[in-house]
Order: sequence, then C-alpha cells, then structure tokens
Amino acid sequence: REDINNIKPEYVKSFQFENKLMPLTWIVVRIDGCHFHRFSEVHEFEKPNDEQALNLMNSCAVAVLEQFKDVIFSYGVSDEYSFVLKKDSQFYQRRGSEIVTALVSYFTSIYVMKWKEFFPQKELKYPPCFDGRAVLYPTSEILRDYLTWRQVDCHINNQYNTCFWMLVKSGKSKSEAQAYLKGTQAREKNEVLLQQFGIDYNTLPLMFRQGSSAFWNEEEKTGMYENGASAEKSGKKVVVEQCNIIEQSFWEAHPSILN
Ligand code: ATP
Ligand code: ATP
Ligand code: MG
Ligand code: MG
Ligand code: MG
Ligand code: MG
Repeated sequence: REDINNIKPEYVKSFQFENKLMPLTWIVVRIDGCHFHRFSEVHEFEKPNDEQALNLMNSCAVAVLEQFKDVIFSYGVSDEYSFVLKKDSQFYQRRGSEIVTALVSYFTSIYVMKWKEFFPQKELKYPPCFDGRAVLYPTSEILRDYLTWRQVDCHINNQYNTCFWMLVKSGKSKSEAQAYLKGTQAREKNEVLLQQFGIDYNTLPLMFRQGSSAFWNEEEKTGMYENGASAEKSGKKVVVEQCNIIEQSFWEAHPSILN
C-alpha cells in the first residue's frame, strides 16, 4: 500500500468512467416516484386520480423548467414526469449521471417543499423518493414517438384504473375487479363504465385522460428587452396544459419546441 500522502489524484480519478451522452441528440430524463402505490395509499390519494397530487407534480415540473433552462418540454402523468432537454444542450458537459441526479433531486426537494401548499390538511408521513434515467432520441420524429408512447400509456392505464376503481367502489374486491377486467378491450371497458356506472369516459377531466405538459409559452419578444431583461418582463413563462401531444397539430402550433 502506498503511503496516504503519496496517493495521486490522477490515479484515483482514473477509475471514473466517461459517461457523456451522445452529442446532438435529444436527452429525455424520466423520473418516477418510488413505490408510489404505497405512498398514495399512506397519503390517502383519491383513486383512481387524486387531482391535487397531479397538480403538485405539475408544479414541481414548472419549477424544474424554471431552474434548468435547457429543459424545453415536459410531460407528466401519475407519479412520472419526462423532461426533454434541447438537442445541443451542454448542461454538465452532457454527463448523464449529473444531469439526471440534479433534475431528480431538485424535483424531489420541490415536491416536499410544496406539499403543504397542495395538501394543507395532510401531513407528509415520510420522505418520498423519485428515481430517474436518461434516454437519448436521435431525431425529433423518434422523440415524438417516445412522447406518444407515454400519452398512449396514460390513456390505457387511466381507462383501466377508472373501471377498476368503479368496480371496487361498487363492492367488488380488488381481485374480483381485476379478474372481471382481465382481457377486456378498450371498447368493452367504456361499455362497463357507461352501462354499469353511467360514466361517459370521454367526459372525464382531460388531465386524467391526457396527462399534463409543461413548457415555456411563446410570448417571448426577443430583441424587445435589451440589457438582460428578466423572463417575467418579456412575458415568457412556463405553462401547464392538457394537450394532445400525439397529433401533429400541437407541434405545429408550438414550432419553437422541437426546432
Ligand atoms: P415503482 O417504484 O416501481 O415505480 P410504483 O408503486 O410507484 O412502483 P408505478 O407503476 O410507478 O408504481 O405506479 C404509480 C402508482 O402510484 C399508481 O399505480 C397509483 O397507484 C399511484 N398514484 C400515483 N399518482 C397518483 C394520483 N395522482 N392519484 C392516485 N394514485 C396515484
Ligand atoms: P458545484 O455546483 O460545481 O458543485 P459548488 O459551489 O457546490 O459548485 P463545491 O466544489 O461542491 O462547489 O464546493 C461546495 C462549497 O459549498 C464549498 O466551497 C463551500 O463554500 C460550501 N460548503 C459546503 N458545505 C459547507 C459547510 N459545511 N460549511 C461551510 N461551507 C460549506
Ligand atoms: Mg420506477
Ligand atoms: Mg412509481
Ligand atoms: Mg409510475
Ligand atoms: Mg457542489
């Protein structure tokens, strides 16, 4: 063993590996609540969708966009949020683990800080945790396919969960409800909702059916405010909207996001 005074920093650092993400590709950081099945039970979230819990998630996403300017778009549903960084981002020189950990820890801190604002009557019983990963998408088409996948997933899960919880609330056990819905198609689930519970799926709140998107609005008037005018002054701010991000029309209406 070397004498501790002779350990050279270069030698110790040589064990670190490069984890730089490929240049000029879209970076998507998806974070997801750890064991939120349990967290939502302990904190008595309304089932299948607790609106305030979703509003809290959205508010945390807004804070992330405001803090990390390379994040240009985000989409969230349930206990997850996907953050899209601009293609040419040089955030942390594109080191993946730093990018992911900075975003996920900031999101988590905000979640805890804002808890009381969204749940004034509920005590936060234990510290929530989120995990995160970075995935690279080489073209805007494939990035859109990714976002489509998340929004389709939101719809499928919400349809299932809405049926499941209506069955449970009407007296079935959880395993009976599960068995009842096994193998049913989307159309059949809509029929169960309509015929047994008088619910037209398409009239449920958009936030439950489509998830939420947080992004910078386009009111920025570049060039109008010189000398480092603040974002507020230029009218630019992060908005949360329930959009269909599968359709081309959303991206045409917001051309600055993917360009
Ligand atoms: P993992 O740690 O593997 O992610 P998980 O228990 O978090 O496990 P998920 O697949 O991420 O599992 O699902 C999140 C769960 O959290 C949902 O199934 C749902 O029960 C609950 N949940 C999250 N958000 C809400 C909400 N707004 N309202 C009601 N329940 C919610
Ligand atoms: P980066 O984001 O690059 O990590 P940084 O400002 O966090 O930048 P570090 O090299 O991580 O820089 O150094 C942490 C700094 O935080 C220290 O230089 C010191 O100023 C401050 N700091 C951290 N812990 C303490 C502490 N216990 N008491 C006083 N100052 C502290
Ligand atoms: Mg997970
Ligand atoms: Mg989860
Ligand atoms: Mg999840
Ligand atoms: Mg530091």
